[in-house]
Amino acid sequence: MRLIFLGPPGVGKGTQAQLLCKKYGIPQISTGAMYRQAIKNQTTPGKQAEALMKQGKLMPDFITLGLVKERLQKSDCKNGYLLDGFPRTIPQAEGFDKLLQEMHQKLDAVISISVDEAVLIKRLSGRRSCPKCGAVYHADIHPFSKKGLCDKCHEKLVQREDDKHETIKKRMDVYLTQTVPLLDYYKKKKLLYEVDGDQEIEKVFNSILNLLEK
Ligand code: AMP
Repeated sequence: MRLIFLGPPGVGKGTQAQLLCKKYGIPQISTGAMYRQAIKNQTTPGKQAEALMKQGKLMPDFITLGLVKERLQKSDCKNGYLLDGFPRTIPQAEGFDKLLQEMHQKLDAVISISVDEAVLIKRLSGRRSCPKCGAVYHADIHPFSKKGLCDKCHEKLVQREDDKHETIKKRMDVYLTQTVPLLDYYKKKKLLYEVDGDQEIEKVFNSILNLLEK
């Protein structure tokens, strides 16, 4: 199964991706997580990503495509993969189509999850994560304790730099102008499936499964 998840920041792509990857036994490939790792390691792309992420901007297409290309060569992608946060621009989608051709692979589906902008802003600004184990918390979904510590490793939870209010707005704008055109791109290829993300996690998951197993 080869899948793409599309949707604005905070829509729940990461959560749904984890559930789906577990069910199908495929890796979740998140370009955002790859860039956050590169920032931690202070590599050259990591330093560039740090500056751009703070402003809510995207990394250059050729760097992102190179990163994805390298990741898809790994053996765990043999039976499929789920791309979470990639492609995000038309040139990335076109580059990915070329890559699929080179690898003699076909995409099975593109799942677009949508939620109202006001709900998204509330979700993102309340999101906290553990810098040690990566667990994600949220007041409405997975509440954290008053002390703001991780349940598992008791580390102090942090807010992602790009979940701060000013950056959220910029990320939304970037999504609307650069990523939304992909909906039409994949609709024309008859690969697009749309899901309402403003429901409980389990309901969203079941809607996705119903679409995929139809
Ligand atoms: P995410 O966790 O998917 O919201 O990604 C966090 C940040 O990483 C984005 O705001 C971008 O700066 C960068 N990034 C992630 N995926 C991509 C992509 N496909 N193209 C360009 N930049 C990306």
